[in-house]
Amino acid sequence: MSHDIPFLKSPDQAVFRDHMETKVAHWIRQWDGQEDLLAGIIGVPLSKSSISHSGASTTPAAVRAAFKSFTTYSLEYGVDLQHLAVRDLGDIQMHVTDIAECHRRIEESLRALYKKQPNLIPIIVGGDHSTSCPSLKAFADRHPGQKVGIIHFDAHHDVRNFEDGGVTNGTPFRGILESGVVHGPHIVQIGIRGFMNSKPYHDYVKSKGVHVYTSRDVRRMGIDVVLDEALGLAGKDTDVLYVSFDVDVIDQAYAPGCPAIGTGGINPWDAMDALYRLGTLPQVQGLDFVCIDPTVDVRNVTSRLAVQFMLSFLAGVAARPV
Ligand code: CA
Repeated sequence: MSHDIPFLKSPDQAVFRDHMETKVAHWIRQWDGQEDLLAGIIGVPLSKSSISHSGASTTPAAVRAAFKSFTTYSLEYGVDLQHLAVRDLGDIQMHVTDIAECHRRIEESLRALYKKQPNLIPIIVGGDHSTSCPSLKAFADRHPGQKVGIIHFDAHHDVRNFEDGGVTNGTPFRGILESGVVHGPHIVQIGIRGFMNSKPYHDYVKSKGVHVYTSRDVRRMGIDVVLDEALGLAGKDTDVLYVSFDVDVIDQAYAPGCPAIGTGGINPWDAMDALYRLGTLPQVQGLDFVCIDPTVDVRNVTSRLAVQFMLSFLAGVAARPV
């Protein structure tokens, strides 16, 4: 806007700015399509595949809006992230009605992105959890000849049968296991909760060799010990790790904006410590956050929490050996 009217600023400029402070919104700018990136935010606005009503398609926008609420500096981790090459790549455009087509687009788009940016760490913001299956397929293909392990935070096993409802946010790990893209013994599920899963599905994951740590295990053993063991298991005989983080693993007291909220979940501090540590590990090459519904959130607490999780992970990435 070019004029000489005093104090009148354009809408994007007419906000308070402290020149001593960098907000995440200032740092994570739009990718120019060329810059080599350390990590990139990719929105996947799909929630029609959610079993319960979900506004998860609005999560990428809500997460971006929450970027203005955080600074790039963490005194807790002793790091300022503002010089890391992390950019916002935008959203993968979903088909309006065809879920299989949406999943196909996720896989195709990520495959092309990984080809163009072979060293990029994708930080995928769902969408519901159905998006993790095509995401993992693209991720596994990015590492030919290498074996992929998964650290999966969730209240649920996510291995529902396909007969009752097709491919949904309740089935991604059924899809991953049955497609053989990742083997059961290379998957560790953390935070799974009692009275929120059925025995046939627990028996199914155990039959596939998947390792399970419950929310109660996290409480009693401590997240550091759980993660020690999880990394030993998912890291055994694998080359790269992917982290799939369903925010409903967090207790509903802290994450009310999830379609499948529940009591007895893990707390945010354990999750932040775990994500920081996962960020420090060079073998962790991909991450997704799924199943937030900003339309039922309370003062954006769940979207903000997702941003704080993302930043904790990136603080760990900043501490990786170069
Ligand atoms: Ca899930």
